[in-house]
Amino acid sequence: MIYDHAVIGSGFSGYSVVSLLKGKSKVCVISPASYRFAKDGYHRNKGLEFNRPFNKQYQSFMKSIWHIGANRIVDRLSLNGSSSLWGGTVDLEKDCRLFSRLEEIKILNLNRDLPGLKCNRELGVMVGRDGRIFETWKGFFSTYKDFVDGYVETIQKSDAGHLELKVTDGSSESTIKAHKVVICTSVPQLIQLLISSNLVPDEFKFSLNDHRMTFTTYKSVVDPRDCKVSYKPMVGLSRKLGLRVLYFPGFGIGPYVVDQTFTANDEKMEYVVKGKEPAVITTTNPESDFGKSIHYYGLTINDVPVTRYLSTVSENIFNVGHSTVLPDKPGPLTNYLLECAAQLA
Ligand SMILES: Cc1cc2nc3c(=O)[nH]c(=O)nc-3n(C[C@H](O)[C@H](O)[C@H](O)COP(=O)(O)OP(=O)(O)OC[C@H]3O[C@@H](n4cnc5c(N)ncnc54)[C@H](O)[C@@H]3O)c2cc1C
Repeated sequence: MIYDHAVIGSGFSGYSVVSLLKGKSKVCVISPASYRFAKDGYHRNKGLEFNRPFNKQYQSFMKSIWHIGANRIVDRLSLNGSSSLWGGTVDLEKDCRLFSRLEEIKILNLNRDLPGLKCNRELGVMVGRDGRIFETWKGFFSTYKDFVDGYVETIQKSDAGHLELKVTDGSSESTIKAHKVVICTSVPQLIQLLISSNLVPDEFKFSLNDHRMTFTTYKSVVDPRDCKVSYKPMVGLSRKLGLRVLYFPGFGIGPYVVDQTFTANDEKMEYVVKGKEPAVITTTNPESDFGKSIHYYGLTINDVPVTRYLSTVSENIFNVGHSTVLPDKPGPLTNYLLECAAQLA
């Protein structure tokens, strides 16, 4: 069978694409659910892992080796990707009509509904039907019929004109055929897929942008260009411990103590890719903590925006993720990911 669309990744980007295409197109989703990357040739890149160190689902594996110093580019091969942590924050000051097409979620107002938190902007948090932070797996993919538990190693054009994905589940390989492929992986896994699929030159550079994020003690003043979230002590502590709770006795107690500020200060970082099997990725500034906000965006490949770059290699390979979006202000990326997904539906 040849699917209309094969979607790679089950985070919020993958969920948005599949949810918006539902009923219009025959769509399969590929994402590692149980596969644990025991295979030869895969490297664990600890520098790409971010909190929850004891949870194997949060480990990063791929063929390339990343030496990016203090830079913070995150890879999460779990079912829900990074999305099930706090990736579900929505900018309510933007046009949010598209969210009403996502049947599985509802949006809480951070300033109104969540104790112990306040923001200078109107932000929302996506929750599932169970009232907890929305998880794409539990809330959607676990019952999705055309879900394939596997890791996509390559995308190739077939002689017949469709695309073929080589998928591994750790012990065996299979081929998924589709007319269109939508890559919804993290940035590092997108780079890996482009290398393995020979869609980039042997040596190339890529770049990302990021609005600098800071953690400081609470101040009552705020620069209106920034997006500042203030935390009361217990909420701050629960976030520090990586807990995913919206409500807890004590969250509303005490003064605001910590500010997390996504500043209007924009930075750019370049990376260099050399070699193959394994490719080695280095950063041009290993001392910088670029990417600390985990809201980096706007991937370019050899100075060409990734969407345009992909259109030059195939008119049927698309990308939805941090890599594709170009936010006009600091803060959540969720709105942009959904808008990007809607362009395909
Ligand atoms: C702690 C934390 C807090 C965050 N807070 C916010 C926030 O407040 N607001 C905000 O907008 N964003 C936030 N983010 C960023 C957030 O990650 C994104 O907004 C969003 O969740 C990204 O979703 P995604 O689907 O593009 O990527 P991901 O959620 O990373 O999903 C990628 C998926 O691709 C799969 N995958 C990767 N490679 C392959 C492959 N080769 N084959 C098959 N499957 C593959 C993975 O298993 C995963 O399912 C936060 C991130 C973190 C880590």
